[in-house]
Amino acid sequence: RGLGDVYKRQAFNRMAGQLQERVDTISRDRAELRAILRSMEEGVVAVDRDARIVLMNDAAGRILDREPTAVVGEAMHEVLPLAEAEELLARAIEQREPHEREIRLPAPLREQCLQVHAAPLGGANDPLQGAVLVFHDISELRHLENVRREFVANVSHELKTPLAAIRGFTETILEDPEMEPGTRRRFLERVRKQVLRLAAMVDEVLMLSRLESDAAAGTPGRTDVCESVRDVVQAQLPLASEREIDLRIHLPDEAVFVAGDAEGLRRILANLVDNAVKYTSGGGWVEVRVRETEDAVVAEVEDNGIGIPEEARDRVFERFFRVDPGRSRAAGGTGLGLSIVKHLVAALDGEVEVQASPSGGSLFRVRLRRAPESVTES
Ligand code: ADP
Repeated sequence: RGLGDVYKRQAFNRMAGQLQERVDTISRDRAELRAILRSMEEGVVAVDRDARIVLMNDAAGRILDREPTAVVGEAMHEVLPLAEAEELLARAIEQREPHEREIRLPAPLREQCLQVHAAPLGGANDPLQGAVLVFHDISELRHLENVRREFVANVSHELKTPLAAIRGFTETILEDPEMEPGTRRRFLERVRKQVLRLAAMVDEVLMLSRLESDAAAGTPGRTDVCESVRDVVQAQLPLASEREIDLRIHLPDEAVFVAGDAEGLRRILANLVDNAVKYTSGGGWVEVRVRETEDAVVAEVEDNGIGIPEEARDRVFERFFRVDPGRSRAAGGTGLGLSIVKHLVAALDGEVEVQASPSGGSLFRVRLRRAPESVTES
């Protein structure tokens, strides 16, 4: 055989090798692409020039409630019958430019708010191959924005009342230099009361926003619940006896340790006991109990006060929710106490619930994690 044949064969082998490499690369790329698309949180749908589906990833299948492999070849507007989406896609294809907009999925699809991007497929000078749609679920974001807006509106509304009162009293005092000292003193005392309310409210709002941004559950250390109950009840006794309310405790003989810091637990109990006293009329009783169950520690605060109507029981832990706003305000309440309690309990990895007490009042129950034996006392 001549030398030429050898060269030819070598060249051929080299070419075959390169071809094999290229095929490998392409199938590896395809597998990679599929893996990427599958792991994406965003929904991705590719369509051809006629807006027929070429590819849909799992996330898009979940969003649009369709089987991704079964929709290939279907028209996009049949899978998502929404004028806004159709328009967006048409614009991306016609103008060969990316576009985006926010859409709400139509029924019977799950209620979701989506940010949708549409981009043409194919380079600026290549023939157009179609377009790709990317769906990003922003429902949670929109929800949070609404909650925040509502919160700001609520806070402003709550601040207005005491501010108007302060303004009224101070103007009256300023306009009447001859005011009788006793009257002036009474007015100033009311100003002071409103200022204290404002300060308490600002403290609670700050506390709440700190708790909300600090979502980490579980604080270190361990705390004796019985000791916390005794401290809190001790501090509430003067107010309770002033209102002729029998404030009593039922504790196990031994210390009962829960996981978490004392400060959080004390605030939880103080809020619950304070409410129980606040919403119970003179001559009533408030009882704080602690008991251990198999896997938890349960603290209960029960009263025979005005109670909470059944339909409001789920809502009392919401910010600014009050059954009777007038009564709450008169008692110096801000409507934030129980939402703070809820966050603090969550930070201790526990649960809080409320039910009607057989006495006609309310029964708040906090379930907490028992402290692991080995942790040192906080
Ligand atoms: P507030 O500052 O108004 O007390 P909270 O968040 O502590 O705010 O409580 C929310 C609402 O739940 C109260 O306004 C009141 O209507 C109701 N509530 C809370 N605790 C009790 C209770 N022990 N008895 C009756 N109603 C209660």
